[in-house]
Amino acid sequence: MANTDAAHRIEIVRGDITKEHADAIVNAANGSLLGGGGVDGAIHRAGGPAILAECRDLNGCDTGDAKITTGGNLPARHVIHTVGPVYRDGNHGESALLASCYRRSLEVAVEHGLKTVAFPAISCGVYGYPIPEAARIAVHAVAEFLDGHPSIERVRFVLFTEDVRAAFEAALRAETGS
Ligand code: ADP
Repeated sequence: MANTDAAHRIEIVRGDITKEHADAIVNAANGSLLGGGGVDGAIHRAGGPAILAECRDLNGCDTGDAKITTGGNLPARHVIHTVGPVYRDGNHGESALLASCYRRSLEVAVEHGLKTVAFPAISCGVYGYPIPEAARIAVHAVAEFLDGHPSIERVRFVLFTEDVRAAFEAALRAETGS
């Protein structure tokens, strides 16, 4: 169980992450970092060409890793691009890779002195991760990271649909034992 202070810095809302005012929003990108559908497409559409221009110089991103660019025209100052695992059967390292996405994104945020970060539900769209399990992994990885990193003031999960929001809410309750 995470310490309560860490869990209190986690918020869960339903919404569109492209509207978030945060030091960084996280993008569930693909390995090319050259754009895609889902939340990735929405972020590039709303943020404009400056994001893609920086992505072109990053040489892609490994699954489980994260890289940062400008936020372009977004209300968020930066976008941290991470690449979630495609879910196969749960026996191909998916859970470790998904946890790594959250951890690496927050490490990049700390390295850049960022204090507020918003995440979507990584791998929960076309990458097919079972939602309740993805929610538990996400909340646990973030709570664990916040325990050791007081410089991050707030992590907000911004979930697009009610079923995903409810799953993350349940995962946070289980994490805090409340
Ligand atoms: P992945 O390829 O990692 O599965 P997707 O973009 O297909 O990524 O989906 C990840 C999650 O992002 C899904 O739960 C989807 O509903 C959600 N999503 C899509 N658009 C937005 C948005 N504008 N803001 C927040 N979440 C979004």
